[in-house]
Amino acid sequence: MVSRTQSAPCAWPGCRRPVPRSQLMCRPHWHSLPRPLRSAVWAHYQPGQDARSASPEYREALAAALDYARRVNAEAERQAALEAESQSRQGGLW
Ligand SMILES: [Zn+2]
Repeated sequence: MVSRTQSAPCAWPGCRRPVPRSQLMCRPHWHSLPRPLRSAVWAHYQPGQDARSASPEYREALAAALDYARRVNAEAERQAALEAESQSRQGGLW
């Protein structure tokens, strides 16, 4: 059961999985972040902070993590497009 007051969507762009407020992302996405980005987020995380009370350092760490996530998403899209293209080319041969 997911309570509305205690969960928020995963911060990873495009992921809507609800995670507890104490976590930024769902487990698979969080663990796909490189360790330095994760430790930067934790180093500046303050329990109970929200968008208004977050420190500039935390915002910066968060922005770096989200920037990485967007690059991963873009790369996945590129791969999918390449695969679709090579499949359609193969289809043309037959
Ligand atoms: Zn996620």
